This record gives sequence, structure tokens and C-alpha cells, in this order.
Amino acid sequence: MTRITLRQLLDHAAEHGYGLPAFNVNNMEQILAIMRAAEAVDSPAIIQVSRGARTYAGDAMVTKMIEAAESMFPGIPVCVHQDHGNSFDTCRGAIDQGYTSVMMDGSLEEDASTPTSYEDNVSVTNRVREYAHAVGASVEGELGVLGRLDTGTGEQEDGHGATGTLGHDQLLTDPDQAVDFVARTQVDALAIAMGTSHGAYKFSRQPDSDVLAMSVVKEIHRRLPDLHLVMHGSSSVPQDLQEIFNEFGGEMPQTWGVPIEEIQEGIRHGVRKVNIDTDCRLAMAGAMRKVAMTKPSEFDPRKFLAPAMDAMTDLCRLRFEQFGSAGHAHQIVPASLESMAGWYADGTLNQRVSTS
Ligand SMILES: [Zn+2]
Repeated sequence: MTRITLRQLLDHAAEHGYGLPAFNVNNMEQILAIMRAAEAVDSPAIIQVSRGARTYAGDAMVTKMIEAAESMFPGIPVCVHQDHGNSFDTCRGAIDQGYTSVMMDGSLEEDASTPTSYEDNVSVTNRVREYAHAVGASVEGELGVLGRLDTGTGEQEDGHGATGTLGHDQLLTDPDQAVDFVARTQVDALAIAMGTSHGAYKFSRQPDSDVLAMSVVKEIHRRLPDLHLVMHGSSSVPQDLQEIFNEFGGEMPQTWGVPIEEIQEGIRHGVRKVNIDTDCRLAMAGAMRKVAMTKPSEFDPRKFLAPAMDAMTDLCRLRFEQFGSAGHAHQIVPASLESMAGWYADGTLNQRVSTS
């Protein structure tokens, strides 16, 4: 069995000083792209599934496709993670299907767009954590609301994201509150708000400290050095992918994502999981546009999807290398969920899991 919990994987990453990209999937091509890239560079993988993806492909299809991929790539430890769970029921549904990790995003109400109170966030996160840890699965919490610091707005992705305008007190995670939140919820990882947002339009210029608050990462890491931090909305929206997209008939206004160097700086300060979806979408869409524009008589979907899969494979491989997870897959022996559950129950997981 190659399936691994987020907790064990991030403990290994912390021990060895690297970070892991977490890529979203909706279909076979994206799953194969991640796994081919992981195998090519010997990296463990985090495959994450949003509620939108579970609806798009159907739960049975998503879980069976990932199982198939695991059997095709037996040397790659795979964490299967629910991205942005909006409720206890969403997280329970994922865990019951064998996901080894869930994000309970208690920063928003169940409608996935209205910010919640702090106490409500603690409460729902605790409920999910009790259920998850009892079976050995991991929990990522979120504190603070994702959105742009210059406009106070976020972008909805797969129907998830705050609507309306938010203040910096909501858009930047408060380090004091992070200390309290982690003590009260015992989450395995914490997503923090620091000016990143979902979608392609994260920044209207090359980001500096006014719009990308790496200081928040550093301060929380200083206060909670053993906590695994998660950066959401962390596509880099590379210039070359924007150019390919636009060269072949796309209309994407100039935009900026999170620079790789900033993510690498985050990894030096406790960031262990880096969520990437837009870059994969853009890589695939650009490749499909190119076929559509240069081979107008082509009608075999595989002729569009194969180059799209190759483009995403290249992107994933690059991120595994840039974040330092390449070369580590063979070191990891996944612990069973039963073992993890036992370690949560007896308090062992107050320490990091030794994995190699
Ligand atoms: Zn996110």
C-alpha cells in the first residue's frame, strides 16, 4: 500500500527540510501527470480533490482512478486529500472513502463564502479532528480568510471563496490566534492567510511585501516551529505559460502569481504544503489551445489531451524539484491508518513521526 497520511508526509518533509506541492485533480490526465512526474523525480505526491472535483467526476470515479494510479506507480507514496472541506459531513464523506487527509476550512461558513467567527472555526475543526484522528487520518485547518490585500477580495474557485470585501484583520492570520487555534484544535497542518488568493489574478504587479505578507509565515513559524504550514493559492502563473495561452488565441490579461523564490523562502520557515491548481490548468489549457489553433482539422480528443498531460507533467516535475521533494519517495515507508490512529490515541503524535 502506497497511501500515506498528510501528517506522516509533512513530518518527513520537516525532518528533511523540503516542501510538497499539492496538486488538484478532476480527471485521469491530471492524475497520471502528477504520478508520472513524481516517478520521474522520485517524489512523494499529494493529490487533492475539491468538492467541485468530486461533483464533476463523481466520488466513485475519483477514488477508483486514484487507486488505479497507485497500483501503476507502487514506488510513490500518495496522500489523498480533501481540499477545502466546507463542513463536517464533507470531511467525513472523504475519510469514509479512504482519503488519508482532509482540510476543514472553518474560516468560512458551510456556504463556502461567508466568513465565520473564530469560535465556530475552532468548534467545527475540533469535530472533524476527533473523527479523523480516531481513524488515523490527518487534518488541515485554516485560520484567516484568503484574499488580496490590495483589493480586499478573493476569487471563488470551484464555488469556494469569500465574497464581499474583507479587512486586513481577516486577510492576515494573527500569530497569537494561530498559537491558540493549534493548541485547541490539534490540527496536523495549518493553512494561513497572507495575501495569496485562488485563481489566476492574484497580483496586479510583481508582488512585494505590501501584497504578499511573508512576514506572517515567519512570525507564525517562530512561535510554532513544529507546526506544518500550508500556503494556498500558490500558483506562480508563469510568464511562459501565459504567453503560450495568449499566443494561441487565449485572452488572459497580464497577471502575477506567487514567485517560486518566495515559496522557497516559506519552505525555509515551516511551509510544508503548497497548493497549486491554476498553474496546472493553465499548462493544460495552453497545450490544448495550441492544438486547436495549429491543427484545425484535428478532432481526436486524445490529440488534445496527450500534449496537455505532458505540459502538466513538466510543470509538476519542476515544482517537485523546486520545492525539494524530489529524491525522497524511496525513503518513506507509509504507516497504516491503524498505526496512526494508535499514535494519536497514545499521544505519540505530539512528537513527529519518524519515517526513515
Ligand atoms: Zn485553497
